[in-house]
Amino acid sequence: MADCIFCKIASGEIPSGKVYEDESVLAFRDLEPQAPTHVLIIPKKHIGSIMALTGADKELAGHILTEVAPAVARSCGVDEGGFRLVANTGADGGQTVGHLHFHLLGGRSMTWPPG
Ligand code: C5P
Repeated sequence: MADCIFCKIASGEIPSGKVYEDESVLAFRDLEPQAPTHVLIIPKKHIGSIMALTGADKELAGHILTEVAPAVARSCGVDEGGFRLVANTGADGGQTVGHLHFHLLGGRSMTWPPG
């Protein structure tokens, strides 16, 4: 998608602090980290949010949850201490970039409820 910043990061047009990449997924460090580990996991293809996922994306979504997020957590050293994986969705969900992304946050104790 032409004007999407995360599409530009996925294509390499905009550089990022890459921590994981495969043919369908990229993970990179958030520019404004909210925790010692703050990584964004995105599908390379443009999907607006959780609400734009379709049945055709089941394999991709499963890949992110069952393989990529655990691999990123392990490579960042937060798998044993624990981490938070969250996809802000829509205006009330606090989503500011309209390309599906999962925040993986760790390296400190999280609180609940979120703000
Ligand atoms: O969930 P939300 O849409 O608000 O998250 C967007 C995230 O993308 C923010 O944490 C912001 O810091 C990050 N970001 C980034 N690099 C950009 C633009 C946004 O890491 N170029």
